[in-house]
Amino acid sequence: MRPSLLDPLFAALSSLPGIGAKTGELYARLLGRETLDDCRVIDLVFHAPTSIIDRRKQPGIALAPQGSIVTLTARVDRHQPPPRGSNQPYRVFLQDDTGELALVFFRAKGNWLEKSLPIDETVMVSGKVDWFNGRPSMVHPDHMARISEGESLPLVEPIYPMTGGLSAKVLRKLIEAAIAKIPELPEWLDASLLQQEDFSPTSVALREIHHPEDEADIDPQAPMRRRLAYDEFLAGQLSLALVRARLRKTPGIPIQPTGKLSKLVMDALPFSLTGSQSTAVAEILKDMAGEDRMLRLLQGDVGSGKTVVALMSMMAVVECGGQAVLMAPTEILARQHFATLSNMARTTGIRMEVLTGRTKGRERDDLLARIAAGEIDIVIGTHALFQDNVAYKNLQLAVVDEQHRFGVHQRLRLTAKGISPHMLVMTATPIPRTLVLAAFGDMDVSKLTEKPAGRKPIQTVIMPGERLEQIIHRLQTAVAEGRKVYWICPLVEETEESNLMSVEERHSVLSQFFGNQVALIHGRMSGQEKDEVMAGFKRGETRLLVATTVIEVGVDVPDATIMVIEHAERFGLAQLHQLRGRVGRGSEASSCILLYSGKLSQNAEARLKIMRETEDGFVIAEEDLRLRGEGELLGTRQSGTPGFVIASLEAHADLLEIARKDAHYLLDRDPELDSARGKAIRVLLYLFRRDEAIRFLKAG
Ligand code: ADP
Ligand code: MG
Repeated sequence: MRPSLLDPLFAALSSLPGIGAKTGELYARLLGRETLDDCRVIDLVFHAPTSIIDRRKQPGIALAPQGSIVTLTARVDRHQPPPRGSNQPYRVFLQDDTGELALVFFRAKGNWLEKSLPIDETVMVSGKVDWFNGRPSMVHPDHMARISEGESLPLVEPIYPMTGGLSAKVLRKLIEAAIAKIPELPEWLDASLLQQEDFSPTSVALREIHHPEDEADIDPQAPMRRRLAYDEFLAGQLSLALVRARLRKTPGIPIQPTGKLSKLVMDALPFSLTGSQSTAVAEILKDMAGEDRMLRLLQGDVGSGKTVVALMSMMAVVECGGQAVLMAPTEILARQHFATLSNMARTTGIRMEVLTGRTKGRERDDLLARIAAGEIDIVIGTHALFQDNVAYKNLQLAVVDEQHRFGVHQRLRLTAKGISPHMLVMTATPIPRTLVLAAFGDMDVSKLTEKPAGRKPIQTVIMPGERLEQIIHRLQTAVAEGRKVYWICPLVEETEESNLMSVEERHSVLSQFFGNQVALIHGRMSGQEKDEVMAGFKRGETRLLVATTVIEVGVDVPDATIMVIEHAERFGLAQLHQLRGRVGRGSEASSCILLYSGKLSQNAEARLKIMRETEDGFVIAEEDLRLRGEGELLGTRQSGTPGFVIASLEAHADLLEIARKDAHYLLDRDPELDSARGKAIRVLLYLFRRDEAIRFLKAG
């Protein structure tokens, strides 16, 4: 049970004043949770500012740099309301000793502006300055305060990551309300470490991150941030160590495959395994033959052929009378894996089924009964595979196709259910060693280093978006020759509606040229609709697939050979690489057209160039790490390390190493977390939501 002192922090976020149904959804998005119900007060406490506005230095109007957020203290000189009936903005002119600036308001109420910005009043405003034709303006200031009324703005103000539709002011208020709920926490760290690192208590650090006094306090190396990063690493390492301790206690299931079914699969495959595929299969079989449970990561670039390695591993288990599951991150992928694998295994007579959130009612009951009775050998699915009411007769191998998503959660859930099968995690991203350690703990790694033979290189070109028509004409020729094209539209804005509009708009434009050969797929469609669209594209009924990034992960249509990515400059390298990996999967030569709009930033230009120059996922990942930092390398959060709220491997790798040792030391001496420090550690695990592992403790 969660220690009651944490209750205020784990109260529903909606218990804070001012969160309604509408803003609630925005907060859920901001905090990376599915729904408002999943959000707790603690999530806001961990929502750390990423920069500050420092109002102690004010440059004056004439010196305010283009495009930057500044604060100005100036006198209101005059109002310029828009002519009646026009859709021009309302302007208010401010003056200081250095010059004049226009505040610009669209659709503003004039009397409200007259009240808040009376003529001759001195006001303090803050917002982004735009210079145009030698004149500065500020559109919709973030803040306005009347000096003579005694109003003022805080001299230093934290700036938080935001999502469209939320007001910064309201967010800050809510955060203050959340901070007020932080209780005194017991100390779980060793006194000597506290001293050596100059750590303040966690409750203090949690408050301090929200009250930065200067730039240095925003830096990941600020002492309060390091303290929290350490806590977070320690919680992570402890929970991994608890899982491993548990795994060690339950003996493995040595598997001695006959090779019969695998041979049937091999004979039916239209290709033979590459050297590194064979090596990976051998490593996996060797692991599973031993007494210890397998915990292995299979790393291989997009298109390197991980799926067939998974199949061979699952076959080995089935040969010994066991069951195997393959978990995919999305419904589309699960269904696709099912189609591919059942085809590859068609000559073996094994029983394979698919189980996802969409499997419902009678069908589901029936399937669960057959799984429990051992009448199914391989189940492919999404996280629905591990839901509480799914029972396996003899589950011996779980393959997790992680792609980009990391999480020990599923693994913990399996172990918590008392099942501990061999575990194979597949990922397309070359993950730095430290990250593997943080996300998975100590894990063995197999790598697929060669691409399947016969692949032709993908020719990548970079073009300005203005040449759309020319591209469309070329595609018409290509489609007439029977080729298939992906057309990717990026996330344009924060809201899903406007994204949807942009793909739909593109779809309708392309339909004018390609008629009903164009199909559309996006995240708002139901699973079944998506399947149908994918199937139609696979069969060749449609030849041009307009998509949002839903197709990013894992989709396999080997005869699709052209990839067009609009606004490629808005994508990260890892994502571009994933997307491009959808083509170049068959024997035909493929191409990738990266369209960009407007002037490219230096960084964007560098990204596109790298894409043009190499297809090597390892080189791309390295460059990406250099350009952006590892959080984005994995294509997950906007900043920081996936799965962590404060800690970043880039910034805090030194702390991870200490935390790992500390965790082992702690559990060696107090494996059940019974001591006084052990009790405090339990609080730590709950605080960072790493408490699933606590169930393994005797007195849990
Ligand atoms: P990923 O590693 O990205 O999951 P897949 O497993 O989807 O890659 O494989 C990509 C494509 O390569 C598939 O069409 C698959 O059938 C094919 N493939 C896999 N292994 C080989 C091989 N040894 N020789 C030729 N083609 C292969
Ligand atoms: Mg795959």
